[in-house]
Amino acid sequence: MTERLYYKDPALLSFEGTIIEARQFNGKHLTVLDKTAFYPTSGGQPHDKGLLNSVAIFDVTESDGNIQHISDSAVGTIGDRVKGEVDSGRRKYFRQLHTAQHILSSVFIELYDFQTVSVHLGEDYGAIELKQPSLEDDQLLQAEQLSNEYILQSLPVEIIFADEQEAQKLPLRKKPSRQGTIRIIKIGEIDYSACGGTHCSNSSEIGLIKIINVEKQRNNILINFLAGTGAKKDYDKRFEVTDRLSKQLTCAVDELKLRFDKIIEENKLYRQQLVQLQKELLPIKIKEAAAASESSNGINYVCMEVDSMDSKLAANFATSLADNIGGIALIQLEERIIIGVCETIDIEAKDIARRFSSELNLKGGGGKTMAQLGGTLKGQLNKYREVLVKILNER
Ligand SMILES: [Zn+2]
Repeated sequence: MTERLYYKDPALLSFEGTIIEARQFNGKHLTVLDKTAFYPTSGGQPHDKGLLNSVAIFDVTESDGNIQHISDSAVGTIGDRVKGEVDSGRRKYFRQLHTAQHILSSVFIELYDFQTVSVHLGEDYGAIELKQPSLEDDQLLQAEQLSNEYILQSLPVEIIFADEQEAQKLPLRKKPSRQGTIRIIKIGEIDYSACGGTHCSNSSEIGLIKIINVEKQRNNILINFLAGTGAKKDYDKRFEVTDRLSKQLTCAVDELKLRFDKIIEENKLYRQQLVQLQKELLPIKIKEAAAASESSNGINYVCMEVDSMDSKLAANFATSLADNIGGIALIQLEERIIIGVCETIDIEAKDIARRFSSELNLKGGGGKTMAQLGGTLKGQLNKYREVLVKILNER
């Protein structure tokens, strides 16, 4: 059985140990030491990464009390002494995230008696699932605020080893599932929780807790949060974006929302004006396009691409153009094809669309005079023309 050095000292990153098992499986190498500071994936917390004798450890698992270090090449053979180095950034991130989770879970009980039923500590964010069908915005805000107050209070985080009887006397947040000696994480006087993970030594090391998303999951609420270095990384990302936008729009960050609302409104207006202009210009555009019409097997047709046209207007354009030439208009607008067919010819738009679907694996359909197909790519107009000509010549 491996001695878990992180149990007593989660700040320990460098250590030495002796190999007690070394073997290959599925092309990878598995190494077990008599003791290790590496944390294996368990209890909702991902494993550490790092080096054993300069060999990269990319996964750490647990089996029958042994901690298995997984690597691409061999670390050594049984009896070898090895030096271990745990990746400090990753360890720090998960210590912060995990301690933040304890505080958040405890605060939701303290304020509203909402129990945490599951925990996820991910590489991008942490999550707690509350046994609660709904949550008000101000409840969320208060929980976040109180959690951050506890961080600022620099509460000591202690590791207590207790037997079952001793544990029963402690105000544990949740009944422990293990028997025998229980490892308990005590944060100030606010939280006692049975846990085998790695945590900070003081709440102040978390730095900050930020709730980033709340969603309903079945009958429960899922709260995603960031902490410590994860929160700082997120702040940096958001700062870069808002700072760039405020410089581009020459306004303060708090004015951005208003500015964007205005830009969106203006855009709507410009779009309406553009559609109106396109409508007015449609007869000229039809005349121009009709002049370039071709003919195959006695049927006039036009194949053309149009850019940035309102989709309703483009459909109108296709049918009007088809009427104008007394034939077929095939219009490509971005990722779709619109087929307009004049009523006077004995072929229907939906039949042409069906042939396009089977020949080019496009999806769509339509009626007698108009059909639309999606999933097309730009720059393929010649191919569409060939298919259309083939259909006309087969008649
Ligand atoms: Zn924990």
